[in-house]
Amino acid sequence: MRQSLHAVLDLAEQFKKENGRIPVLMEVCGSHTMAFARTGIKQRLQTHVGLVAGPGCPVCVTDQKSIDAMIEVSKQPNRIICTFGDMMRVPGSKSSLIEAKTAGSDIRVVYSPLDSIKIAEENPHKDIIFLGIGFETTIPILAVLVQEAEKKELKNFSIWMTTKLVEPVLKVLLDAKEVNIDGFILPGHVSVVVGKNSYDFLVEDYQVSGVITGFEPVELLRGIYKMLQLLLNKKNQIINDYKYVVKEEGNLIAQQLMEKYFHYHDEAWRGMGVIPKSGLVLKAEYAHFDAKKKFNVQVGEPKKTKCRCGEIIQGMIIPEQCVLFNKGCTPLHPIGPCMVSTEGTCAAHYQYMREE
Ligand code: SF4
Repeated sequence: MRQSLHAVLDLAEQFKKENGRIPVLMEVCGSHTMAFARTGIKQRLQTHVGLVAGPGCPVCVTDQKSIDAMIEVSKQPNRIICTFGDMMRVPGSKSSLIEAKTAGSDIRVVYSPLDSIKIAEENPHKDIIFLGIGFETTIPILAVLVQEAEKKELKNFSIWMTTKLVEPVLKVLLDAKEVNIDGFILPGHVSVVVGKNSYDFLVEDYQVSGVITGFEPVELLRGIYKMLQLLLNKKNQIINDYKYVVKEEGNLIAQQLMEKYFHYHDEAWRGMGVIPKSGLVLKAEYAHFDAKKKFNVQVGEPKKTKCRCGEIIQGMIIPEQCVLFNKGCTPLHPIGPCMVSTEGTCAAHYQYMREE
């Protein structure tokens, strides 16, 4: 590890000499954000390589309206909302899912989305709604959920789809030019599904490189090292440095499943507004599993707070630049999702990098 670190520092020094500034790399995976902070790589490199967290944490990018809508849906009798644990404490406009549960709604944390199918079978007289958040890593699992619900002919099961896709959001970031990024540390998990070739647009349309890497300290450092090599050699390329799990074309079975059940949809991202075709929703023939169509809940625009998660997830500011960081907002009393999620930038910063 020490050797890898010194190799990165050498290249970073060279970059600084040639460019008069340090290189800035963005990771777009919440697990990478946590791993960089937990291993101390981010802290050790911070004056040599800027590691900026992008929109990679699924909980953090979920817009407040979805939480508000879920709470509204949960208020009616005979409904059970199923979701991942991280979502429970994310503040909506008035309350969080955990507060709604305390107030009497039946909201359950599931460890596997398939548990929600079991709950639907056990509760035939209740409507079971799964809150489907996540990127391409999770979406195939949602497809399996629909497949199972179809096979079992469940009439009381539906999904509230609020999924996100990586490619459209990277394009928005690069088009906006508000964040100066020299290259990307590309997500390990998402890439397993979408494959290395799906990032060709970065090179072809934006002349930006990226390295797909794993999560071990040595892999993280090697990813940075390879990215710096590309920058110094002025080469634009996508490198797959996680070959033992990521294939050029990705996971074709997962892709086919997604294609079978879902189609593109203009999706709202927290703090970023609606990004065209940046999410997937159920196709018309599976509309009976679409909770948004089934329950047709209308919620107002979320109230504005001082939380700056929208800027955090775009890498525009660091957590300390939010006035609430470690003041009004801590993991025990989170104001925004970036402090709630185990993959959130503010949570990572609080846990491993805050100055007392
Ligand atoms: Fe939002 Fe809290 Fe992060 Fe500020 S510190 S951006 S309030 S999550």
